[in-house]
Amino acid sequence: MAKSNIEWTETTWNPTTGCTKISTGCLYCYAETMSKRLKAMGMDKYKDGFKIAVHYNALNEPYKWKKPTVVFVDSMSDLFHNDIPFEFIKSVFEVMNNTPQHTYQVLTKRSERLMQIAPLLNWTSNIWMGVSVENEHVAERITHLVKTPAFIKFISCEPLIGPLYSLQLDLIDWVIVGGESGHKAREIKQEWIDYIYNKCQTHNVPFFFKQWGKKMHNMNMNDPTMLKGHKQYAKGGCELNGQIIQEMPRSAYKTKAN
Ligand code: SF4
Repeated sequence: MAKSNIEWTETTWNPTTGCTKISTGCLYCYAETMSKRLKAMGMDKYKDGFKIAVHYNALNEPYKWKKPTVVFVDSMSDLFHNDIPFEFIKSVFEVMNNTPQHTYQVLTKRSERLMQIAPLLNWTSNIWMGVSVENEHVAERITHLVKTPAFIKFISCEPLIGPLYSLQLDLIDWVIVGGESGHKAREIKQEWIDYIYNKCQTHNVPFFFKQWGKKMHNMNMNDPTMLKGHKQYAKGGCELNGQIIQEMPRSAYKTKAN
């Protein structure tokens, strides 16, 4: 099991790989870049590059992990993509249902399909369901998410590339915010982050600030977490108004935070 560098999870599990772009948040998709790199390195799982592929042989991986683990599902894909057969999604859910010792974090931009098929899936309490919301134009994804019966519902605002002044937090258990990284990274503004943080405070929703993404977008050039040697190093630093704020959902059991 490979340890993940993503601050809010422990490992990744990719029963599907590949995807297609659906909104502006996808512009510099990390999974696309990595898939092409892994294909060039000759990795069999990525022989089709970033084309959608389902991997039946990856389905039994969680059964082999002895220690209870927090798992980000499909970091290299989108489980609710239209080209992934419903029966396969059901098989992924069955694995999650059968391994309650693990906590699964599923994140999608295909919130409409999620909403449509959610009643046909078994939502055990170890499944956290999230939608990516990069700006106001895709805020409807939250409306779709809250119609699902997922035990923990979360929003990932990463990369945050615009304000989210219509943010709706009813029935939401957790919000992650992060800036884009990479040399073409789009700007994240402090006022957008502060707005989301304040709204989370008002609604008593745990908030996790992952990273500024790029040093030039961090308002504090003295943020110590910009430095690679810092134990909480993050791209561009991760202090917000002088604090590291990395809360996890309160109703969650066995998380990295506790
Ligand atoms: S939905 Fe996610 S994995 Fe798919 S292209 Fe967009 S950013 Fe990449």
